[in-house]
Amino acid sequence: MPSFLNKSDARTWVWDTLRDQKIAAFPFPPHHRIPNFRGAADAARRLLADPLFEGVRRIKVNPDAPQRHVRKAALEAGVVVYMPSPRLKSGFIELDPARIPQDKLTKAASMSHAADWGRELHVWELPEMDLVVTGCVAVTATGRRCGKGHGFSDIEYAVLRELGHPPVPVVTTVHDLQVVHGFPTDPHDLTLRRIFTPTQTLDVTEPGTEPVGIDWAALAPESLEEMPVLGELARWRTRLGTTRFWETTQLEDMSREQWEALCDGCGRCCLLKLRDSDTGEVAYTDVACKLLDTGTCRCSDYAGRSEIVPDCVVLDVSGWQYFSIMPSTCGYRRVWEGLPLPPWHPLETGTPSSTHHAGFSVRFRVISERDVHEDELVDRLVDWISLDSDG
Ligand code: SF4
Ligand code: SF4
Repeated sequence: MPSFLNKSDARTWVWDTLRDQKIAAFPFPPHHRIPNFRGAADAARRLLADPLFEGVRRIKVNPDAPQRHVRKAALEAGVVVYMPSPRLKSGFIELDPARIPQDKLTKAASMSHAADWGRELHVWELPEMDLVVTGCVAVTATGRRCGKGHGFSDIEYAVLRELGHPPVPVVTTVHDLQVVHGFPTDPHDLTLRRIFTPTQTLDVTEPGTEPVGIDWAALAPESLEEMPVLGELARWRTRLGTTRFWETTQLEDMSREQWEALCDGCGRCCLLKLRDSDTGEVAYTDVACKLLDTGTCRCSDYAGRSEIVPDCVVLDVSGWQYFSIMPSTCGYRRVWEGLPLPPWHPLETGTPSSTHHAGFSVRFRVISERDVHEDELVDRLVDWISLDSDG
């Protein structure tokens, strides 16, 4: 196996060799892309049969041609697939096999048709992954990888860590010829846990250090423009995360931006509540308003919500009487009561989706009122939402 003085030489050697040995598959030429190769389906089958895949429910897979087989096989196995858009400009496409007809899974797994069968998710709405499958141009048996040369896979993973996602194994499918002896790497490079080729599985026993977030100091200024989500994160960190305005500013004096930032996105206030007719006590159920997207905890028609759901509470500072029926964790209620924000609140963590990752949102814990009969509500009261400020 050859060794290289830099990543660029490793890429060129792999691209030329795949072409010259007629291993490269459509699209041609293999150069300047994650190259497709003969046997990509075998490598994907090897990955799906690996113990690392057991129990996987959600995977992030790069959108390139050789990993189409991984996406298809995962969908057929009932796994939800998340595919990043180029430079994360349109977030991710979520492909949920439960929403795709069986005979369309192959099409849905392709880059050109995924949008027909999936739905777009903002980066902040992405749930935790169980496994990340990345595309590579060259890899080493020690888990080093290089992509096309822009570093977007590394940044994507770092963005998710920055948003509070837990570390997950990163694997790849490549042709055996893409496994080279060595090339220099950078500290923020992603490292692989396992490498699947058409003929073998390479287990990396000592993978390198995982990125824990974005290496802001190492980021080129142009990256903030190339990947808008980086700019969003940078603005979030500097503008809202450091001033601790919620400790010094009254609700009525907050700017629109500050007011919006107080919401932790938990979705708890969008659950149906029952009021005891004797005591007046309010209790929460695990049944969500019909407009709540239970995967993202966002209102699916925020602008038109008051017309569709007349009793939706449009919270503003004049609605203080509603604060007492908001969950005890609600940012508005806590500031109103002079209490600190919970430690997992995005304003405390500096990561916009930390509520989800800390397990305090309703994501995947509730069902829609569309799926429940009104009479069943009394059986669906929950004790994990408290109205007691000390709770
Ligand atoms: S309970 Fe409060 S913090 Fe949570 S989503 Fe509703 S308004 Fe936002
Ligand atoms: S209409 Fe929207 S904001 Fe109002 S309770 Fe329903 S999901 Fe929540």
